[in-house]
This record gives sequence, C-alpha cells and structure tokens, in this order.
Amino acid sequence: MMRYIFFYIHTFLFSCAPENTIIAEKHGAADDSIKKLSSLDIALPIAKPGDWLYEHKERGQTFLEYINCNPISPNATQNVIYIQPLGNFSRNTDSIIHSTVEYLHAFFGLKVNLLPVISDSLIKPAYKRIREDGHLQYLTTFILDSLLVSRLPEDGIALMAITDTDLYPKDSWNYVFGQAYTRKKVGVSSIFRYIENDRPEKCLERLIQTSSHEIGHMFSILHCTNAICVMNGSNSMEESDGRPNRLCSVCLNKLCWNLKFNNRERFKELSEYFNKYKIQSDYKLVVKDLEIYSK
Ligand SMILES: [Zn+2]
Ligand SMILES: [Zn+2]
Repeated sequence: MMRYIFFYIHTFLFSCAPENTIIAEKHGAADDSIKKLSSLDIALPIAKPGDWLYEHKERGQTFLEYINCNPISPNATQNVIYIQPLGNFSRNTDSIIHSTVEYLHAFFGLKVNLLPVISDSLIKPAYKRIREDGHLQYLTTFILDSLLVSRLPEDGIALMAITDTDLYPKDSWNYVFGQAYTRKKVGVSSIFRYIENDRPEKCLERLIQTSSHEIGHMFSILHCTNAICVMNGSNSMEESDGRPNRLCSVCLNKLCWNLKFNNRERFKELSEYFNKYKIQSDYKLVVKDLEIYSK
C-alpha cells in the first residue's frame, strides 16, 4: 500500500526524564493569559481512516512533558533561524521564500537569515530517485544528516532547507512535505506540491504552515493532539489545508515558555502579516487571539 505522509518527525534522541519533573514546578506556565486562549481552541475531529491520527497512534505532549524534556532553546550565542534554499528553483519562488522568512520572524520572534542557494549536485545519485511520472525526489535523511548538520552556522539555533524538489524520507514511503529532527536543529521543507497555477496564494499559505511546523519540531515540540493546531500531524493535502496557521493554547504556551516572546506583540505582527498577504482565515483567528488575550 502506498503511504502518503506529509508532516513527518524523527523523535529518536528525544526522551523525557521523570526525575526532572521538579523543573516544571519551578517554571510553571509561560504566561497565565495564554490560558484564556483555550476558549478559542477547536477540538480535533474524530480521526477517520487515512487521517494522520488514525494511522499514527500519537498521544501528544503536555506542557509539563515539554519543559521537562530539556527542549532545544536559543541562548546568547545561538539564536538565529537560518533558511537554506537547496537546488534549482525552476519557478519564480523568490518572493515566496522571502515572504516565508518574514513570517517565521513574526511567528518565532527570532532573527531569521536567508542563506545563498546551494546546488543539488551535493546530493549523490544514491539519495535521489525518479517517480513513475518522471519527477525527481530527494531523500530527506541525506539532506538532514549529510548536508545540513555540518552547515549550521555558529549562531544558528535552527537550519531549515527549502527546496522546489519533491522529498521522500525512506524507500517505502511515497513523499513528504517536510521533515525535521527534534534535537539536531535541522529540517527541510518542499514547495513542490504547493504551487497551483489558478490559486497562487495557496503556495505561501502552505509553505509558512510547513516551515513553522518543522521549525516547531526543531524546538522539540511534538505533534499536537490537544486541538486543531499548526503542530498537528497531517496525512494528506486535504488534512493539512484544514489546519490554520495558528498554535493552540498548549503549543503556544510551550513556544512562549521557550522563546520568551511578547504574545501581544507577536499577535500584532502576525495580524499585520496575514493582512498584508491577504490570508483572511488566519487573520481572523489571530485578531480573535489578540482580543481574548488582551481582555
Ligand atoms: Zn510534524
Ligand atoms: Zn497545539
């Protein structure tokens, strides 16, 4: 059976240490006002065959589990997110990548730098394949382990490649939209399947979703099972298109605790971004978040 897996995550090297639960008591919640946002969380629908949670029995990750797992965190010397374009971009995607960099800065509240493109000649033939319809794919694990890990700049806390070429994580899988490690600070996202000629705006909406999802993993956040959330796993384009570019209250609490951003400022920046790029559904959600948070 062909498997279509979209948001994919490696969780090895990721373990929780029960003896560290004392850390949770010491730190508590990131921001008490975030709790008010749980009223805006929408319950996940019951998973049906083919959905991510039907095929993958994930149990999620609580806030306490997250902070007790010693997540990857920025510090005084490592605090920049790097975006690494990889391979040939046959389509005019420059503006989409620049707009994604702008989004990631608003989403994570960290400096985001765009690196010069690197050639796909660095990917050896053994780590590429041609699908039945003739399109090329790159093996994600080669990109992550052999290209990216050694390229993480000294001040980098996350390095994510973006490619215009399709991706696969292992021979038995059909393709993935993106993949990231939770401990090694590297990830990769593809725009190959995102471009629709009659709906050009969908490419940006999808790339900012996958990019923020994968970088969320790079800060050690696991898939969300709390509510509809950008950190949900997705098993199809239909499923991922049904996800908003919004963190649920639990995932926002994790990211805020880790990155220590100002929620009000973050909501304002995101609302300006969604307004600028006419992403109406996410604009409405973040305006509501800001309203409830500020009450
Ligand atoms: Zn994922
Ligand atoms: Zn969530």
